[in-house]
Amino acid sequence: MEYGLIGKKLSHSISPFIHSLLGNNHYELLELEEDELDLFFKKRVFKGINVTIPYKEKVLKYIDELDDTAKSTKNVNTIINKNGKLIGYNTDYYGLKQSINLLNISLENKTCMILGTGGASKTIQALLKKEKAKKVFIVSRTPSKNQISYAEIDKYDINILFNATPIGLYPNNYDKVINLLGFKNLEAVFDLIYNPLNTHLVLEAKENKIKASGGLTMLIEQARYADKLFFDREDLMKIDYRQIYQRLQNIVFIGMPYSGKTTISKRIAEELNYEFIDLDNEFMKKNNINIEDYFKKYGEEEFRKIEHEICFLFAKKNHIVISTGGGIIENKENILALKQNGIIIYVQRDYDKINFDLSRPLAKNIEEYKILLNKRKKLYEKYANIIVYNNSDIDDCVNDILKKINALEIY
Ligand code: NAP
Repeated sequence: MEYGLIGKKLSHSISPFIHSLLGNNHYELLELEEDELDLFFKKRVFKGINVTIPYKEKVLKYIDELDDTAKSTKNVNTIINKNGKLIGYNTDYYGLKQSINLLNISLENKTCMILGTGGASKTIQALLKKEKAKKVFIVSRTPSKNQISYAEIDKYDINILFNATPIGLYPNNYDKVINLLGFKNLEAVFDLIYNPLNTHLVLEAKENKIKASGGLTMLIEQARYADKLFFDREDLMKIDYRQIYQRLQNIVFIGMPYSGKTTISKRIAEELNYEFIDLDNEFMKKNNINIEDYFKKYGEEEFRKIEHEICFLFAKKNHIVISTGGGIIENKENILALKQNGIIIYVQRDYDKINFDLSRPLAKNIEEYKILLNKRKKLYEKYANIIVYNNSDIDDCVNDILKKINALEIY
């Protein structure tokens, strides 16, 4: 291995993809057990590596020289082999700093709170010290001296919150570390988790107009610094953020029955080379019954329960286009799940363009349709990142969507 990443479990890593965008196609993944570290570092047949969970502190003993970031954070995520001598850096530190800069947040004189006490927490603590934060509360499940417990969180008024725990990380996307209601002067939230792109914490912050960032910016920026060290470059390489976001991002279609969202979402999946999932189809596959018959037999409430389960299952996947049933937005939990990785597109169609039929259990004619639309329209509009009309040519609508996706801000 010339360049790459070592860690215990790496199957979900997107680092090879990020480094390939930086021009390095020799970046490999190497899963190691702890008892294999000795031999790996004895042989040291690599030029430059990254290190991830759970070895960022464990590798310290193999390093010959630490740079200031590694010294101050007491963990190493990048190691350069200079003619047999191993030099350790912590490029997470730079990644974090850059992610904070991009949100235009100053740490000076701020009261901060960090959830978690592991390697990433130590990196945050070092940065907060360097940037002269006023006070830092460190939260642990088993607090030691100078730490607080989760039960004490509400006692403190903070400006900036960091999540450095794995709570909410894929596949446990819907686990909630804390909620933000108690904080009255919260200015920003940084969740270091990058899969999902927007954890529950990030979504809650954004909903309350608090600046928030997930961990992908930090991950990309630390990789740019690592790449600079690997190749001893003068400057950081530029990188296309959008390509990386798209790798993790879903595109979710909402809207009324007959809006054409299924046809359009299939087209978008083809155009962008995403997998296509229709939640109503998934429902029918799972229950072996069509939706009209299911409604007649068990009623809407039972349908919504199963729809919710299916929604939760697919919302945490990456790089898929999801076409949803018209009523998905009636449960806010569904939308919060879909927004973790998804941009939401609301497809509208005027009544006079619709040919009603009997296949849609809640909108068989224009009267039923209008009642439903009245109930749902505000929610569709509220949750959508993009709104489009499908009143004329479907190609126009597809092109409009592609243009609007590309124009969206990505972080
Ligand atoms: P770590 O060394 O394993 O530390 C995680 C800490 O979280 C632990 O020390 C623990 O603190 C707490 N914790 C662990 N399991 C928990 C649970 N079930 N409930 C509540 N708290 C729990 O991991 P790390 O390297 O610091 O990484 C932490 C998170 O940051 C991970 O999700 C990682 O993916 C992410 N990260 C992201 C980036 C990036 O570039 N975006 C970089 C580094 C890390 P207590 O035992 O004291 O409660």
